[in-house]
Amino acid sequence: MPRRELVQKILALKAERGAVILAHNYQPPEIQDVADRLGDSLDLSRFSASASERVIVFCGVHFMAETAAILAPEKTVLLPDPSAGCPMADMMSAEALGALKQKHPDAVVVTYVNSTAEVKAETDVCCTSANAVAVVRSVPAGRPVIFGPDKYLGGWVKKQTDRRMIVWNGWCPTHQKIFPEQIEQLRKIHLDAVVMVHPEVNPAVAEIADVVLGTGGMLRYVKESAATTFIVGTEIGMVYRLKKKFPDRQFVAASKHALCPNMKKITLEKVVSALERLEPAITVAPDVAGRARAAIQRMVEIG
Ligand code: SF4
Repeated sequence: MPRRELVQKILALKAERGAVILAHNYQPPEIQDVADRLGDSLDLSRFSASASERVIVFCGVHFMAETAAILAPEKTVLLPDPSAGCPMADMMSAEALGALKQKHPDAVVVTYVNSTAEVKAETDVCCTSANAVAVVRSVPAGRPVIFGPDKYLGGWVKKQTDRRMIVWNGWCPTHQKIFPEQIEQLRKIHLDAVVMVHPEVNPAVAEIADVVLGTGGMLRYVKESAATTFIVGTEIGMVYRLKKKFPDRQFVAASKHALCPNMKKITLEKVVSALERLEPAITVAPDVAGRARAAIQRMVEIG
């Protein structure tokens, strides 16, 4: 079916179902274009809880739809392709985390929102890439921190806070496709460009960047910056998002290979199918959801 017809079908079904379409900043352009709201995973999950619609079509990956289901248990949260997972979130299991907690009984567990509901349920306080430093600083002095699953975000936070941290050995395969040599090459072409990278990148990349920011932070940074050109070191979907929001600026992907195959599994056809069938719906067992929600709530209280 042509794209225009698919979009029309989505709009009609959305009205019929009383649904809202949310899309992560890494989604393909055609999904970003049809979304009612774009954002990072936590923005979108929080929006799910406050939205008046009863049906949420979450165009992202599994842990994001799960977080929305945790924060909005009374709503139907649809993930158009249930196989859209996150390899980094899957690198940390609740069982292995439980074993590590037993080895470090005095540790406070801080977990990145890019994690499964079961891991969040074993967590003291969640964090995002934007507030990870503040969350770790809020841990009482003298108590070690177990941090996961991203070792690069963890290492970056450790450097900023100088806290004793036991960091999980997880990473994002997509962000590891950005190399310092690519950025150095691009700097030679775009002499005045600001280099913005995500904290999930390799430390060798973060070290040569001008700023290290999550996707929400990048949007705020560009808005306030006087610069006209930006080299963007994160998943390439973000470049489309930035270009659309700031058409008068220039955005260059640090690496065209930094493409998350799971994010790109969501298609217009799958959004149509999800709205037609009200499936696949993502649910979280109430006891797991309750404990995970408390860890997210503690993060929100820290700010
Ligand atoms: S970009 Fe990385 S962290 Fe984000 S969903 Fe893809 S694999 Fe997971």
